[in-house]
Amino acid sequence: MAGTLEPIQKMVTELSHLPGIGQKSAQRLAYHILSMPLEEVRSLATALWQGRKAIRYCEVCGNYTDGERCAICSDEKRHNGQICVVRDPRDVAAVERMHEYQGLYHVLHGTLSPMDGVGPEDIRIKELLARLQDDSVAEVILATNPDIEGEATATYIARLIKPLGVRVTRIAHGVPVGSDLEYTDEVTLSKAMEGRREL
Ligand SMILES: [Zn+2]
Repeated sequence: MAGTLEPIQKMVTELSHLPGIGQKSAQRLAYHILSMPLEEVRSLATALWQGRKAIRYCEVCGNYTDGERCAICSDEKRHNGQICVVRDPRDVAAVERMHEYQGLYHVLHGTLSPMDGVGPEDIRIKELLARLQDDSVAEVILATNPDIEGEATATYIARLIKPLGVRVTRIAHGVPVGSDLEYTDEVTLSKAMEGRREL
């Protein structure tokens, strides 16, 4: 029976579904993987499979974790009086890289985007409001990206929270408009946090 290159084509197709990986990169990766020792390929595949299976959302803040609560929510040294609201877990990592913020987080897993059909029910706003029932929360810092959707989301959430008597602040515009929090350097992000203003 004549062999085919079908298994390689399958690898290329799967790899090309990853963000930032076009056909050419997918091909390069596939050929690289073919040149690797089988054992290494197995550890790579196993790490991906097991990582994906083990990681879930923290039941409190929505950050990634392999337990019920993430390391930040479980850390008793973190101040529970502040909640920093971000779009996704990558933004938590960005703020954590500053090593300055000592409060907790709330991950929305998205921003409001009527154009894409993302409404308030589709992101974790209900869960945020539920956390505010706890009197210990004194301030909510809205750190969604400074783009149209991030601003709209911040405005929407501020309107819901203010009547509850909780202080609502928005990070300053040190973060360049239209940019991703994730790619903002620590100094800029730190200044944006410091210069946050009342909404
Ligand atoms: Zn958490």
